[in-house]
Parts: sequence; structure tokens; C-alpha cells
Amino acid sequence: MATLVQYIYIVSAALFILSLKWMNSPASSRRGVAAGSLGMLLAVVGTLIGFPGLVEAGIHNVHNWEWIASAIVIGTAIGIPIAYIMPMTAVPQRTALSHACGALAAALVGTAEFYQSNALHETLPAFKLVALVLETLLGFLTFTGSLMAMGKLQEVLPQRPITYRNQNAVNFALFAIAAGLAVRLVLVPTDTYLFPIFVGLSLLFGVLLIIPIGGADMPTVIAILNSYAGLSACAMGFALGNNLLVVAGALDGSSGLILSIIMCKAMNRSFTNVLFGAFGQIQTSHAQAQQRPYRSASPEEAASILEAASSVIVVPGYGLAVAQAQHKIRELYDNLMRRGVDVKFAIHPVAGRMPGHMNVLLAEADIPYDRLWEMDDINGEFPQCDVALVIGANDVTNPAARSDKSSPIYGMPILDVDKAHTVMVIKRSMNPGFAGIDNDLYYMDKTLMLFGDAKAFVTEILKELPVRVGA
Ligand code: NAP
Repeated sequence: MATLVQYIYIVSAALFILSLKWMNSPASSRRGVAAGSLGMLLAVVGTLIGFPGLVEAGIHNVHNWEWIASAIVIGTAIGIPIAYIMPMTAVPQRTALSHACGALAAALVGTAEFYQSNALHETLPAFKLVALVLETLLGFLTFTGSLMAMGKLQEVLPQRPITYRNQNAVNFALFAIAAGLAVRLVLVPTDTYLFPIFVGLSLLFGVLLIIPIGGADMPTVIAILNSYAGLSACAMGFALGNNLLVVAGALDGSSGLILSIIMCKAMNRSFTNVLFGAFGQIQTSHAQAQQRPYRSASPEEAASILEAASSVIVVPGYGLAVAQAQHKIRELYDNLMRRGVDVKFAIHPVAGRMPGHMNVLLAEADIPYDRLWEMDDINGEFPQCDVALVIGANDVTNPAARSDKSSPIYGMPILDVDKAHTVMVIKRSMNPGFAGIDNDLYYMDKTLMLFGDAKAFVTEILKELPVRVGA
């Protein structure tokens, strides 16, 4: 039986790895999700098959099947509605909530193992104890940290960084005390009275770690917390002697880390800056922009400009997700392509609120993948392009990132929309985007502001462009 379980684990681990690989491209991402789900199902089945063996071997002395069944039923009952009810724009919050739950599970398993070994007067090997305290520390801090991140993104907590004097020193001191207690618990595990203090400090550290971080950095922080949750699960694998947990946790931990590095690079932010920089603070001063003249246009005018163009680059952003305008954009794409207009989509790596946000939305509307161009590949085409049609994007098109050293987004690579012959921007107002700063693009002579909800405005444009069949 033990061998069968190990084979199941190997297949499961291979499916996790393939899942990550396939999720790299929109074309294979559905297969990736299916492979990951199948891998997890096999992992659970393998663990349950192996469980009686562990009980017989005395490694586990409980077999509360009803608890396991209840957890599966409750998890499924909560998970399925969440998948349907949560809008795409709330995915970062939802992800933070999943990390909080996963990390709490790992931390509780660590806590149970610690108390159980003490109750049974078992002497755990030092390596296992180290893994156990690491699992608990990372698990509890990720739990409260993820809840804080979720609260900030959902705007139930203040989005601005909360800072105070010597904040980093206080945080480091707190972490050092928690780490010191962890060392003591490894050396003298019978000091059980220290464990609740250790847990309390870990929970508090998670809160204090997140409060100085501004809303704009929160999606990156979620990727970092993902990494912590993975490392906690990996440590749990070592503590429980479960190879699959080690592999899955390591994959989760490393992919979260890689993702946060990619996001930091795309926003030209350093890791330490995200964690200790209190980014959102700078936003306040830039939010008060002075009044400057700009030009606006009606849907009829926009339609005639598009009709006369021979090349159009569509630049989608967060507003597209808010308006759920992807299907209307698809209609506009079809309409213009039938008129012989070359339409491409420019994808900025941090457009929207999570990596791949725009790819997912456009894939939902079946826009061909070969029409989606990454930032580095499309930027050279803007100077030759007749119209750049910006739909609900703001920060990722802001030329201040190239030239204004005082701007909080200075150095962030942007889409060179301002180099197109004509720029049209669909948004509801002159309000700033996520970084809270004004966008010089809107005041250029070549720019026309198209005020309105993205879906409604594109619908109006389409009314002015009668469909050409088979042209
Ligand atoms: P953005 O800068 O937040 O701008 C979105 C714009 O959409 C807003 O200016 C808003 O203007 C407009 N909008 C909102 N609802 C709309 C609607 N219904 N119809 C039309 N327009 C609407 O978005 P972005 O250009 O996509 O940039 C993403 C930002 O998120 C960047 O600052 C990036 O650094 C940050 N970020 C992203 C990630 C990621 O992984 N994607 C991670 C971390 C941070 P109005 O209110 O005037 O309509």
C-alpha cells in the first residue's frame, strides 16, 4: 500500500509541475488548471489510502473520517459559490483569502503536532521540530498578513500605508523575539507555556508587516504571501514526513516568489521597497492635479476616426475589467478587421489588478491569442500606428514614468501610447488610476478623451459602425 501511495504522489507531483508549465500560455491554461486539480485530487486520495497504514504503524493514532468528510463538504460548499459569485476584479482579494486559509491550516497542523508530541511524551528529532516551528511561524504570520491584504484590497481597511516612527526596527525586534522563542522551543520542546506567546507574536507580526504597505503594492505583496504560504506547507511536509507536501509547498513557494519578482520588475520596484517603502504615501501629494485643458470627443467622432484608420492598437486596463467590456471589444475588433483595419492588443504585464488579468479577460471573449502583443514586442509599433485606443487603462500608459523623476511610477516600463498618431482614451472621468497620479497623456494635442463607461461607450461606437458582412 505504501508503494502505491508513493506512485500516486509521483504522478500528482508531475501533474503539479505540468500544471504550472501549461498555465504559462493562454492556449494551454485550461489544461493547466485541469492538471493541477487532478493532481490535488490524487494527492488527497493517496493520503487517505495511506492513512490506515500510518495508523497501524502508530504514526497516527486517530482516524476521524467524519472530520475529514465534513471538511471536504464544507470546503466544497463554500468554494463553488465563491467561484461563481466573486467578480474577476476581486480575484486578488479572493487569492489573499485562499492564502489565509491555506496558511492557517498549515499553522494549525503544526500546533496540533507540537501539542500531540508533548502529550504523548514523544521526543521529536531536532530537524522535525525546526520544520514544525517554521511551519507555525510562517503559517500564522501569513494568515493575519493575508487577511490584512484582503481587507486593504476590499477597501474595508485603509488603503494608505500606516506608518510610525521606527516601524521597521519595531517589526524586526518583534520578529527576532518570535525567532528566539522558536529556537527555545526547538531546544526545550517541553516549555509548552512559550508556544501561545510564540503564536501570538507570529499573528501580530503578520499584521504589522502589512500595515505600512500601500494599496498599489498589495497585489505584489499577495504574491509574496503566496510564497510564504507555500514555504509553510513545505515545512509542514518535512514535519509530517510527507514528500508530496514538500514538493507542492516548494512549487508554491518558488512560483509565488518568481511572480512577485516579475511584478516588481514590471513596476520598477525593488523587493525591499515594496516591503518597507510605504509606497502609497507618495500618492497623496500627486493626487491633487491642477486643471489643464484637454480635448474630448463623442462616439460618432471616435467611430469615424477608427473607420479611417488602417492600424489600431487597443490598450486594455483595469477599467475594461470593471466595465466587463471584453465582449463589446470583441465586436469592435471583428467590425474593424472586416473593414480591413489591422487591430492588435497591447498587454502591459501589470495592467489590471493581477498578472495576466487582461489575457484572461480577452480570452473570455475569444480574441485570438496571436492578436495579443506583449509590451516589449508592441512598443516599437506605436509610432507607425494610426490610433491607440486606450480602454480603461491609465498608469500603464503614463509618460511620466519615462520622464518625471519625482513621479512614484518613475522608471516603470510603460506602453508607448503617446507615440501613436492619434490617441483615444475611454474612461469615465479625469480621475487618476491605481497609483493616484495625473496622466500627462490626457493633455496632449493628439489625445481625445472619450468619457463614459467602457462597455457603454464601445456600444455607442459600434452603433456608428454598421456591420459589414463578409467584406
Ligand atoms: P489604473 O491605472 O488603475 O487605471 C484604470 C482606469 O480605469 C482608471 O483611471 C479609471 O478611470 C478607469 N475605469 C474604471 N472603471 C471604468 C469603467 N467602468 N469604464 C471605463 N473606465 C473605467 O489601471 P491600469 O492602467 O490597468 O494599471 C494597473 C495599475 O495597478 C498600475 O498602477 C499597476 O502598478 C497596479 N498593479 C497591478 C498589478 C497587476 O498584477 N496587474 C499588481 C500590482 C499593482 P475613471 O475612474 O475615470 O473611469
